[in-house]
Amino acid sequence: MERISHWIGGKVVPGESGRTGPVFNPATGQQTHEVDFASAEEMDAAVQTAKEAFASWRSTSLSKRADVFFRLRELLEQTKPELARIVSEQHGKVISDAMGEVQRGLENIEYATAIPNLLKGGFSEQVSTGIDVYSIRQPLGVVAGITPFNFPAMVPMWMFANAIACGNTFILKPSEKDPGASMFVAQLLKDAGVPDGVFNIVHGDKVAVDAILHHPDIAAVSFVGSTPIARYIYTTGTANGKRVQALGGAKNHMIVLPDADLDMAADAAVSAGYGSAGERCMAVSMVVAVGDIGDELVAKIAERLPSVKVGAGDEPGAEMGPLVTREHRDKVAGYLDSGAQQGATIVRDGREDPVFERDGFFLGVSLIDHVTPDMDAYRDEIFGPVLGVTRVATYDDAVRMVNDNPYGNGVALFTRDGGAARQFQFEVNVGMVGVNVPIPVPVAYYSFGGWKASLFGDNHMYGPEGVNFYTKGKVVTQRWPDPSTSRVDLGFPRTR
Ligand code: NAD
Repeated sequence: MERISHWIGGKVVPGESGRTGPVFNPATGQQTHEVDFASAEEMDAAVQTAKEAFASWRSTSLSKRADVFFRLRELLEQTKPELARIVSEQHGKVISDAMGEVQRGLENIEYATAIPNLLKGGFSEQVSTGIDVYSIRQPLGVVAGITPFNFPAMVPMWMFANAIACGNTFILKPSEKDPGASMFVAQLLKDAGVPDGVFNIVHGDKVAVDAILHHPDIAAVSFVGSTPIARYIYTTGTANGKRVQALGGAKNHMIVLPDADLDMAADAAVSAGYGSAGERCMAVSMVVAVGDIGDELVAKIAERLPSVKVGAGDEPGAEMGPLVTREHRDKVAGYLDSGAQQGATIVRDGREDPVFERDGFFLGVSLIDHVTPDMDAYRDEIFGPVLGVTRVATYDDAVRMVNDNPYGNGVALFTRDGGAARQFQFEVNVGMVGVNVPIPVPVAYYSFGGWKASLFGDNHMYGPEGVNFYTKGKVVTQRWPDPSTSRVDLGFPRTR
């Protein structure tokens, strides 16, 4: 069994805790790797390495730091297919989708090449006679990132690109389900010229995460994962004096108004509901049909489903792969049973698809109609290829439903009415809004983040808010000595 070990100080470091976890190929159901799980002592060793690397990395010029990211961009461009293959083999998503993931991650590397510009401060001349003021932003020190299984290449890039470009050193704790992608990227970072110790990977489970949350030398923690763990990371991390941004789960609604192009809406619902087998935090989970379009919209979605090709990631033409683990696949399929018991209509049951019989963790595309907010299929983030449809009478009912939902990650409105779209973006309590765009993931020069139970903390991820998160402000008030103006004055400093 191939083993995946830690990456500390620019090299592979075998784990010594004696604890490991299995990594599967979800398309075959076979275990392919064993990943080391770190102890608190091993985490501490990585933190000490990162701490030692910090002094010289934060002193490295902005142009040299930018150079590293230009080189990393080139290396990633050259090796994208290999990285996508690793993602597909451990996560299950199809190669084309994995390539998309890598591409969206790459945007963050490109953003980091602009670090000399991004860290420009402000300067005010002559705020008082002979006195100038300027502001600068400085790195925090050692920062950590804890990432989910569903974007094993992209989400780490959301974090480490800005963190390192800003002058911090970084510890990544990737998902133990698909840790291979980050190891591949670690080697690229080294090849791009990132000094040893600036980027480290420590694998593991709750033990490793808790070691991060309690370590006195880790200044900040970025987390992406499910809401209960995000809440735990935020409360524990902040109680230990750390800066924390913790992104959680989602329940993304796609509202379709009666004036929308229903074919376009159905295409979007299928793409955004089943892409990556629904294992995206921005996946559309619930279609909200407004007015009397419900039957027609459901029919249009249903007629598209038989042609969605489900298969292994590298199978020619496959559009949707398996789920990440057998347990998760079975949990997702359980929503078809609870939906039926609680009164929903099962339009298509993915367990009837022949892929369900394969050895891998497959579930065919599934559609449930007449879902209502009291059902489990509405309340829970299903995180699988089970798309729900709910029906409401008016636009106001739809907005109320979204605003009452505890999550607030993404939402989309399908309409031809510009006024309705404007009103929607004004009043909806969700962090990322799409107008006729079903998966409104912001580009790297904006920032990513939900509201309510989808994000704990004050800064969204990557983009300008990422730079803000990984730096602290300092303001310098400066006067060049002029002996003729010097005198003792115990009053509070005022401008003159
Ligand atoms: P998860 O919360 O189970 O795991 C995320 C990370 O936390 C992993 O590194 C894991 O090892 C660690 N972890 C798990 N249990 C822990 C515990 N008890 N104590 C400490 N650490 C623990 O999430 P996942 O299943 O890997 O990913 C799917 C979830 O992530 C979904 O809820 C999805 O919506 C969410 N997600 C959110 C975003 C976003 O931007 N908001 C993006 C991607 C995924």
